[in-house]
Amino acid sequence: MAEKDIKKEAKKADKCNEAESESSLFWADQIAEEVKGRAEKDPVLKKVVKENSYVVYDEKTPSGIIHVGSGRGWVIHDAIAKSMRALGLKAKFILSSDDMDPYDKPNKDLPESWNKYIGMPFRNMPSPVDGYESFADYYFMQCVEKFEEFGIDAEIESTGKCYDSGRFNKAIKTILDNHDKVKAIFERIYDKPYDKISFNPICEKCGRIATTRSISWDKKKELIRYKCEENLVDWAKGCGHEGEISPYNGNGKLPWKVEWAAKWPSMGVVCEFAGKDHFTRGGSRDVAIAIADEVLDYPPPYPSTRTTIGKGYEFFTVGGKKMSTSKGMGIGFAEISKYLSPRIIRYLLVRTRPHTSLDFMPEGRNDLILLYDRYDYTERVYFRKEDVEEKEYNQQKRIYELSHIGEIPKKMPVQIPLVLAATSLQIGLNEAGAIKVLRKMKHIPEELSGIDEHHVLERIRDAKNWLEKYASEDAKFTVQDEASKEIREKLNDNQRNALHKAAAAAKEISNDKELHNKFYEISQESGIEPKEFFKIAYLVLLNKERGPQLASFMLTLGEKATRLFESV
Ligand SMILES: [Zn+2]
Repeated sequence: MAEKDIKKEAKKADKCNEAESESSLFWADQIAEEVKGRAEKDPVLKKVVKENSYVVYDEKTPSGIIHVGSGRGWVIHDAIAKSMRALGLKAKFILSSDDMDPYDKPNKDLPESWNKYIGMPFRNMPSPVDGYESFADYYFMQCVEKFEEFGIDAEIESTGKCYDSGRFNKAIKTILDNHDKVKAIFERIYDKPYDKISFNPICEKCGRIATTRSISWDKKKELIRYKCEENLVDWAKGCGHEGEISPYNGNGKLPWKVEWAAKWPSMGVVCEFAGKDHFTRGGSRDVAIAIADEVLDYPPPYPSTRTTIGKGYEFFTVGGKKMSTSKGMGIGFAEISKYLSPRIIRYLLVRTRPHTSLDFMPEGRNDLILLYDRYDYTERVYFRKEDVEEKEYNQQKRIYELSHIGEIPKKMPVQIPLVLAATSLQIGLNEAGAIKVLRKMKHIPEELSGIDEHHVLERIRDAKNWLEKYASEDAKFTVQDEASKEIREKLNDNQRNALHKAAAAAKEISNDKELHNKFYEISQESGIEPKEFFKIAYLVLLNKERGPQLASFMLTLGEKATRLFESV
């Protein structure tokens, strides 16, 4: 794609984003404002935020490798919490591991011997790798360990530990005491009889949680009678044990949809998004908001209200041949930084409104080049190096602030477009060589500050990754040590003559535009078409018919290039 087309595409994409926005505020700031407005008006929330600060909450079941799509939710919630802090509010993003959930299907990454744990809570299963507390801890921490690289500030919680500590006790009691209301909600939404008691104890005999059925709740003694049944679910077999147990302090859990509602007052949640699949009519959010409103008397978090579900965020996938794993699932969040720089992923997720679906394709098309160019544009706007309208400035400024990882530098870092970094790397052969080339091309000054050097090296590394994994063959080249015999034999006298003249010109002219014009003159004088001249020049230099812009490329290569032309 030509640079002009890339710019046009970028403008189109930006228009789409703008069209969705009714407010001139950046999306995360707009949400922060709305949540603040709610908390100021609603007496329940007013008290909650005063006691707890503004809790932006997200949760994930650690059932195995966590897909990159979940990373979208984490970046969204992190950006919202940051926007709230920018408003002067005390706000935090809490991410909880839903580690009380049962192991419900065999994990394809593990041997069959793990099937004996089916039906048990993830937190009570051993870790497949030494050094982690449990199965749940292992898979969850794979992602959390990457948070710093992605600039995600989150407080990490374990839902199981919250059960242990008694944080859910009050909500559990309210839900069990108000069984009639819970039953009425399920029957209303699903239009079929609901005969369960909303609590799943952990069987005291076999340790399973998926196989237990609560038979009765003794409100006075506060005890649950339960049976561990053989055929309650078809994927796990219970042991037949019958017992009586307190539902408090980690002896079991609430079923998912009820648990979601119980978390909100227990944790003081004011904002929690999830993938759009949860936000359908009759979906888990629909049930959870009814329970929060009618049973727990708590206003459901943004984007829901007591009566409306709201909208979840759209899917995020990263596609392409290299990214699909042998198991056929999409790429895991923990692995994505091997393929794409966290800086650029965070930028992509922050600049795109949550209700826009994202299927990012780093291979083939020019999406990745375009994304780097947009990142650089946003950075230039932030540092007032682009002449743009105030609205655009405000938008890009917030994108930059909320997507920047680490402290924002005082001065704009040196920018090297991805494609230029790739060219200099292919000429210079390694990082140090690429820096030398960029210096020679006058893209970077003789003396680079520490911050600038860090940025330039980062871009060179991203370019290396791009060349190795995604770039088309057109973008790749190797400067030849000598012109191939085959090419030398094919050249006629006119062509040889033109190349000799071009070598002489490159020694005399140091301005790339002048040299470029000179090449046209030379081809005319030598009686060959300019197109043909460029083709033979690239064949001699690169053993390919195309390459980077010839004049500046020759000047960068210097003697190496002139020698090749003279040798034919
Ligand atoms: Zn059992």
